[in-house]
Amino acid sequence: MKALSKAKPEAGIWMEEVEVPRPGHNDILIKVKKTAICGTDIHIYNWDEWSQKTVPAPMVIGHEFVGEIVEVGSEVEGYKVGDRVSAEGHITCGYCRNCKAGKRHLCRNTEGIGVNRTGCFAEYIAVPAVNAFRIPHGISDETASILDPLGNATHTALSFDLVGEDVLITGAGPIGIMAVAIARHAGARHVVISDVNDYRLDLARKMGATRAVNVSESNGSIPGTITELGMSEGFDVGLEMSGNPQAFRDMLDALNFGGHIALLGIQPPETAVDWSQIIFKGLKLKGIYGREMFETWYKMSSMLQSGLDISPVITHRFGIDDFQKGFDVMRSGESGKVILEW
Ligand code: NAD
Ligand code: ZN
Repeated sequence: MKALSKAKPEAGIWMEEVEVPRPGHNDILIKVKKTAICGTDIHIYNWDEWSQKTVPAPMVIGHEFVGEIVEVGSEVEGYKVGDRVSAEGHITCGYCRNCKAGKRHLCRNTEGIGVNRTGCFAEYIAVPAVNAFRIPHGISDETASILDPLGNATHTALSFDLVGEDVLITGAGPIGIMAVAIARHAGARHVVISDVNDYRLDLARKMGATRAVNVSESNGSIPGTITELGMSEGFDVGLEMSGNPQAFRDMLDALNFGGHIALLGIQPPETAVDWSQIIFKGLKLKGIYGREMFETWYKMSSMLQSGLDISPVITHRFGIDDFQKGFDVMRSGESGKVILEW
């Protein structure tokens, strides 16, 4: 079968002919229909320091996909050939304390599809059946192919009560943009998002942001927006989705006393902050990893079925033979989600 492989330990991605995976007795084999490119795939493409430490090249990458079951292992129950599915890309051990307690997203032995085990940028992928998620009616294939990052946005955004609250999102990457729509859907009042990229801030406006602020321009500032919107005391909830130290500091400045922050963006280890902002304001911070299995998946699919519209985030579509164009546009920063059709 065709597959996109990190074939060599250097920048790039290559189309190769590889064996169709053989599903074990607890696995399902899925014929992949659509995939999406994640920021992680770009890190792997670029072969940055993290990828060199983490990804065992050669390896088929990719973890955002939708497809159809074509084979079911002998021990699998609840799935059948023909089911339309995506899958949770974090494969967990099943025996650690958190797995045992039903908190699989906190498994200390997690492996990632397309990161340290064979991924979905291929005609077929085999996954443990416990990781599969059947796609409910009314959710398109295209939307189903981005449930993984929508799940990151959902897990982060629904960490704290948003009803009637003012929400600040730092970072208008695909995940930040989707978080705007979720905060709106969940009943927030003002949803303000910051970035340094106008293309992405425009997308955020299409997703329903009250204000999309370019913090790199002299006329764009978060404190200015607070004043303009008449919010005298600052934001109630912050969703950090950039991984940028300055964005995190902007957020600490802009949060009201007693505010809540969910941190999805991965800050560099040396990020320094003004600790008095956290301590004297009594802020509550929560780190977010992945998606809750499978509470996040149920929540996001129910929101999609009840009117959550994330369609503006999908900006580009390519046939798989044009994969290089997909990676190029994603690397340019001038894109939302990029779909590759198999
Ligand atoms: P992305 O890199 O596409 O988006 C980050 C955005 O932050 C970019 O648009 C960038 O221009 C913007 N940014 C840069 N400097 C900024 C500043 N000073 N103020 C505001 N915005 C600024 O990433 P993404 O795919 O949308 O993911 C968001 C973040 O979440 C990334 O840091 C990613 O690594 C992280 N992530 C974490 C998990 C997890 O499980 N914790 C999962 C997926 C992604
Ligand atoms: Zn575990």
